[in-house]
Amino acid sequence: MRLIATGILGLSLLAGGAAQAQDAALRPDQAAYRAIYKELVETNTTLSVGSCTEAAAKMGARLKGAGFADGDITYFADPSKPKEGGIVAHLKGSDPKAGAILLLGHLDVVEARREDWTRDPFTLIEENGYFYGRGTADMKALDAVWVDTLIRLKQGKAAPKRTLKLALTCGEETNEAFNGADWLVKNRPDLIQADFGLNEGGGGRLAPDGRREVMTVLAGEKASQNFLLEVTNPGGHSSRPLPDNAIYRLSEALLKIRGHVFPVKLTDITRQAFAIRAERPDEAGVALKRLLANPADAEAARIASTDPNVNAILHTNCITTRLDAGHASNALPQRATAIVNCRIFPGETWQETRETLMRVIGDSRVSIKALNADKPIAIAPPLDPRVIEPMKAVAAKHFPGVPLIPGMAAGATDGLYFGPVKMAVYGVPGMFGDPDGGFAHGLNERIRVRSVYEGRDYLFDLVKAYAGVK
Ligand SMILES: [Zn+2]
Repeated sequence: MRLIATGILGLSLLAGGAAQAQDAALRPDQAAYRAIYKELVETNTTLSVGSCTEAAAKMGARLKGAGFADGDITYFADPSKPKEGGIVAHLKGSDPKAGAILLLGHLDVVEARREDWTRDPFTLIEENGYFYGRGTADMKALDAVWVDTLIRLKQGKAAPKRTLKLALTCGEETNEAFNGADWLVKNRPDLIQADFGLNEGGGGRLAPDGRREVMTVLAGEKASQNFLLEVTNPGGHSSRPLPDNAIYRLSEALLKIRGHVFPVKLTDITRQAFAIRAERPDEAGVALKRLLANPADAEAARIASTDPNVNAILHTNCITTRLDAGHASNALPQRATAIVNCRIFPGETWQETRETLMRVIGDSRVSIKALNADKPIAIAPPLDPRVIEPMKAVAAKHFPGVPLIPGMAAGATDGLYFGPVKMAVYGVPGMFGDPDGGFAHGLNERIRVRSVYEGRDYLFDLVKAYAGVK
């Protein structure tokens, strides 16, 4: 998961000491949940040295311990990538005609270097009202909610009417990895087929005064596309410099990309989110109000986009994320490459984005290649009242008076792979996060402790409502 639309709503950091849920104060069911969460965070699932397969096995062991039969649990992996496996578990409903719901989560996390972090990224640390650790926000808190939900329902008195299908997969964060969601859809649709799926990407935001301002259900996402930019050159001895240099040429291209702003696009969904953000009377909020009244107001767009959360969903964005050049310190570079990551607005294609980059760079010596361009593009799920109304009804109990609006993700989720089986996948509301995105993918990733426990309570009741558990 990446930033979502509601990121624009903002939150000032909690005062120290607020919302500190320490172990001792936990209900027994919360302590059980915390143990699952801790195990997931402390199982390294980075692509480089971690193992989703190991995390999947640990979750499988917990399910078995809770009474799931071997036949209810399926492990899967690509033999050539044995550490990138996943797990599917089924909790059979009592009414075969009632259908099924998919609870989807990715186990993998973005790389994290211990030396760059303040705390060990693979230890769950609770401090000042926050859980710190890689994956605490994206998305092991929600993975743990799904596992915990299945265990509680299995052990509960009343069986759900609807079948619940849990799928924990790998490869969401890295294009080159084995994507378990994609694999399941293509190879074992029977395991994941459901009336609809619940996934990451939704959430909720607090107002600067700590009030819960809005909840979002993710219904639409940008497409993430990496481009490899490359310049090659005959090179030579660095004592004999030549005017044409691969590094300089690539650098000039990258600076042109930095200077390019894609055209503003507004959808019904982003308008709703922006309208709430525009209520805040800071510079970006005032500009956003002007922009909503006149989407052609370029100056208003420029000021509004100084809020990174507004900028993230205002248009397509392309940003350089990696750089590699040269082969020796005393040689002219023969090759310079960069990865430019684009977050493409719904309705636009990667081909159009590539053409824009080529035009902006205006240098035929810079080649631009789309990487893994066969990825499907997300189709926004319909706002089906059978899905949305229970979200609202349960929210009225847990978070009374907080509006629930559809959101658009600035990034992509595994929801995009479910087009071929025509399944709508929604990013669930419930966990209220910080406007800074909780540093997901970045340093010192964290999530508010209180948000996790409250979100868990909300989501458990929501799944029970969908599944027909009294
Ligand atoms: Zn994620």
